[in-house]
Amino acid sequence: MNTENKTAILYITENGLELAERLKSLYKDTQILKFKSEVVPKIWNEYKNLIFIMATGIVVRTIAPLIKDKKIDPAVVVLDETGKYAISLLSGHIGGANDLAREVANFLGGEAVITTASDVNNMTSIDLWAKENDLIIEDWRALPHIATNFLNNVKPKVYSDIEISMPTGFQITDNPASADILITNKNALFTHSPIHPFTQLYLRPKNLAVGIGCNSGTSADEIENAVRTVLDENNMSFLSIHLIATINIKGNEQGLRTFAEKYNLKIKTFTADELNSVEGIGKSDAVFKATGANAVSEPAALLASGASELLVPKQKIGNVTIAVAELITPILQHSLTPKLYIVGTGPGGIEHITPYAQNAIRKSDVIVGYGTYLDLIQELIKDKEVVSTGMTQEIDRCKKAVELALSGKTVSVISGGDPGIYAMAGLVFEILRTADQQEKDTAALNIEVIPGISALNACAARLGAPLMHDFAVISLSDRLTPWELIEKRLAAAAMSDFVTVLYNPKSMGRPEHINNARAIFLKHRSTETPVGIVKGAMRGNERIIITNLRDMLNYDIDMQTTVIVGNSQTFTWNNYMITPRGYENKK
Ligand code: SAH
Repeated sequence: MNTENKTAILYITENGLELAERLKSLYKDTQILKFKSEVVPKIWNEYKNLIFIMATGIVVRTIAPLIKDKKIDPAVVVLDETGKYAISLLSGHIGGANDLAREVANFLGGEAVITTASDVNNMTSIDLWAKENDLIIEDWRALPHIATNFLNNVKPKVYSDIEISMPTGFQITDNPASADILITNKNALFTHSPIHPFTQLYLRPKNLAVGIGCNSGTSADEIENAVRTVLDENNMSFLSIHLIATINIKGNEQGLRTFAEKYNLKIKTFTADELNSVEGIGKSDAVFKATGANAVSEPAALLASGASELLVPKQKIGNVTIAVAELITPILQHSLTPKLYIVGTGPGGIEHITPYAQNAIRKSDVIVGYGTYLDLIQELIKDKEVVSTGMTQEIDRCKKAVELALSGKTVSVISGGDPGIYAMAGLVFEILRTADQQEKDTAALNIEVIPGISALNACAARLGAPLMHDFAVISLSDRLTPWELIEKRLAAAAMSDFVTVLYNPKSMGRPEHINNARAIFLKHRSTETPVGIVKGAMRGNERIIITNLRDMLNYDIDMQTTVIVGNSQTFTWNNYMITPRGYENKK
């Protein structure tokens, strides 16, 4: 069953139910259930997250007989009725209960109670690190020994066949026999077996491409056996398979598909022409007759991996041919390369930041941003290194962020609202492009833009539904745009009957901007056209005004304000501003 992201919230009292309903919006696939002890065993394996709003004792007694293994148990969080404490009770790391508790606490303004030792001591949890780097833990029995040593300040020695950035506190060694952790796709790295079988932890990078050719109707079992045999004979781990590569006409071969699905492997297919473009491969007449390709397994493995040489040339076992190559580019770019998040934190407080964005901020070492926005998210960043300068030093801030990210830190550049709307995202890209032209090494940088609720969303929501029809967004700031161009765009929007959202209405304290904008609209729209003025949407100082083009200047409009001018159809009703979509007229 696919439990991915399913959340159940269980409550006992009315207060619990109220809290559950507030929480419901936090996760997509959420169900609220009245707690009964007999309900829990039924849902135990059906949800990824279980949130219990009740006393910890009840929860412990109920789930005790159900607990099996930290790899498969759901994340369990216990919440008190007032929402003050969110306790990560079970499956803190792998299951994600620590993150869940933090998210819930943030959302409710409470506190997360986390007790896993690696978090408490702020040390990397080995299993989490492995998961984040897409390394497969071969045998969990080796883990507790190393993790315990680590917590007692014995640094784990790591041997790795692949390039990977180590967390602080890990030591690199080039002697596999002395390593605590071995990162390799080779089954065994040396001939002496360790003194104790579970003192060394093998982590498997998923970096093998297995090229497969097979006769029609070959069973999944036969394919699996052939793959296992070839990998075993060549000292390679089955867990390191990243994907299967074959010719397009075999992409739907039942046996191959069943095998791939069983181990959650992607199948990558190539046309005969693509396969034939690979040079230096032996030709099989029989294969050519059947498929039009000179060969399948070898060129497919090479193409899928990007490698120029095979690790294992074609092996034929029964109806199956197999060749293996190693992926040249690391699969999980994000963990190996410096990370730069460009994060939108929405209009105001933490509850309007997406959980995904919150997570990125949490994962960052350094936060770069502007004072006001940082103040609004103080709670999230209190333990972080913060680079904050005034409003006009945006360029310096972005440069600093890029520099820090390139030095290996994970950095979040923070913008209020959405980072790609009159904010930092574009600037970061411009700086990177320039750095690139100067041949600085920015290729290694892994950038992720994370959206936020923009002022236009927040203000429209507060006003009702003014953006139900085509709209234009115009910034009245002439700091970076000539005023003539702004006027031209205002006129175009006004003329075309776009609902128009005006950002930065009082740039650099100049009131004439909004006066001029109003005058332009009055040339094309009636004085009665509804106008919404929202200041500090979703912040403590929020103020919402619905007026019209005639009277709008009677109200204070400042830099924390967004103005929305309706189109010719926009109407007001019960203190809401609504632009009809036209459903009423559609018969
Ligand atoms: N990136 C931001 C916009 C930055 S430009 C976003 O996507 O929202 C700054 C302008 O945004 C302000 O002058 C104001 O017009 C608008 N703005 C930002 N936050 C706002 C809020 N909470 N309420 C109303 N307007 C806001």
